[in-house]
Amino acid sequence: MIKIIDSEEFSYFLRINRNAIIKGWMEKSEVQNVLHRHSLPIIEKNTHLFHQFCDCFIGVIEWRTTISECQVKMEFLELLNNYSVTTADLFTLITKLKNAIEQVIFEGGNLSFSLQKEIDSLSLQMANDLATNFEVIISSNRNYKSENSNLLAEYKRAVDLSNIVSKTNPKGVITYVNDKFCEISGYAREELIGKPHNIIRHPDMPREAFKELWNTIKAKKSWNGVVTNMKKDGGQYIVDTTVIPILDVDGDVVEYIAIRHDITELEETKQQLRNINKAMKHKVDELYSMTNTLEKKAYKDNLTGISNRENFEDMFSVEIASAKQNNTPLSLIIFDIDHFKLVNDTYGHQAGDVILIDLVTVVGSSIKNRDIFARWGGEEFVILTPSTDITGASNLAEKLRKIIASYTFNYVEEGITASFGVAQLVSHDVKRSLFEKADKALYEAKKNGRNRVEIYNG
Ligand code: GH3
Ligand code: MG
Ligand code: MG
Repeated sequence: MIKIIDSEEFSYFLRINRNAIIKGWMEKSEVQNVLHRHSLPIIEKNTHLFHQFCDCFIGVIEWRTTISECQVKMEFLELLNNYSVTTADLFTLITKLKNAIEQVIFEGGNLSFSLQKEIDSLSLQMANDLATNFEVIISSNRNYKSENSNLLAEYKRAVDLSNIVSKTNPKGVITYVNDKFCEISGYAREELIGKPHNIIRHPDMPREAFKELWNTIKAKKSWNGVVTNMKKDGGQYIVDTTVIPILDVDGDVVEYIAIRHDITELEETKQQLRNINKAMKHKVDELYSMTNTLEKKAYKDNLTGISNRENFEDMFSVEIASAKQNNTPLSLIIFDIDHFKLVNDTYGHQAGDVILIDLVTVVGSSIKNRDIFARWGGEEFVILTPSTDITGASNLAEKLRKIIASYTFNYVEEGITASFGVAQLVSHDVKRSLFEKADKALYEAKKNGRNRVEIYNG
């Protein structure tokens, strides 16, 4: 028997049975069906929304709230829409909720006829309202989707306009080329479609490069690299290329899309830069070696090729420091050609030059490698003899004197002689004092008749 109860009792009854209603609703096979069919996950967040919606529904049934006041309904509908629940499914959910309410009330045997009518009417209103709102949500989503596909078309247009695009089937046969592809390659579209993609392969491209490309895209990964392609007329163009494998639902490659930028000019400019760099490097090397030569020249005497005075002075300082530090002897020989002015005056300056060169050759080949031989100036020369004391140095001077005196020089039938001054470094000597000592000895040699060796003796 159906017991007639008033609306206050009804409200109270609904509230105390809230949980039973929700449970009854959610457990209904039709409701479960809808959820499963649309893979709507029964996670806490979603369940909470279902519970809130149920509360709202109950609120409307018991006149506590109105349909328009039901805040949660839009959120609930959004959720359903996100899982592509249809309007028919929405009706199923509402009907089953109404059933769950009725069921609980029937089980208690507490529903009056008029109240049942009321529930039917309110449920219908609720269902209408929800369906209307749901349609709005679905259609706005449809618009969004079509906006999206418009956007995609725009993107495709933008990609097509700014890139060279082609598609091939998994075997590498061309299935699509855009205008830019035809333009740059010089082929008409119909000459390309159905042809293997290597129609544009440039013979200069190493095979390994393509091997790497194929290995990558066959492994279903995108490949990027710089490729030189060949035009129909045999010319070349260089492209920065990205090849993307397109997979079907099973994960198999259905086609490859290649998107390229023409970087021919860039690459050519790079090559030019490389050439310029190379040429510049060559010039720099040249300059460097010229500087080297100049530096060397700056240290060499122009006429004879042996060290000049500057270079000698540098080495002189080093040798004095070294001799003092190592406590080894160091001697200096200065020699000067006798009556050279007369030689010049008699045979000419050029003849004098030749004699100077010959003398340097003769002396140079008669001294040790370690001895430092330099032209001090004019017809005056110095020999610094490391690790050699005054005896060794004067012996060397005597030997050289004899060699010069007995050498047959060009031009001068009567021969050439030179005078020598020799001095040994003592502890308090500096460059200047040692030089002055040897020079003094040389002066003595000149004074004492020339063509002789004098040792400085204080
Ligand atoms: P002494 O025996 O006293 O040394 O007499 P000398 O004539 O050699 O001495 P002096 O210093 O009066 O003359 C040196 C001459 O050497 C003067 C100069 O013409 C000559 N001379 C200096 N440098 C060169 C050179 O590079 N080439 C030539 N041909 N002659 C030079
Ligand atoms: Mg002289
Ligand atoms: Mg002189």
